[in-house]
Amino acid sequence: MSIASFSKTIVAAALVFSAIGATASFAGEALPETCVVNGDKFSEHNNPPVKVSHEGESISVCCKKCARKFEKSPEKYIKAYREELAKEGKSKAQAAK
Ligand SMILES: [Zn+2]
Repeated sequence: MSIASFSKTIVAAALVFSAIGATASFAGEALPETCVVNGDKFSEHNNPPVKVSHEGESISVCCKKCARKFEKSPEKYIKAYREELAKEGKSKAQAAK
């Protein structure tokens, strides 16, 4: 293998890794700026968001109280979270135009 083709392989591998990294952070980070449990904006809270997870999906809620509520009915809040993500995705796509 020549040095040129070797470095091309490295670049390709780096691209694949960065793509995976972007996907992982998209799935792991809570994109909505509001708590799915009580609708509070994270920015209006003094405390950092609390991470909760359900079936491998992790989301952030605004406080420990909400985390406890989330744990009581995760399906409900995960659904709300997904709807919120879909909404944000749409509004971001519109803003980009
Ligand atoms: Zn809260």
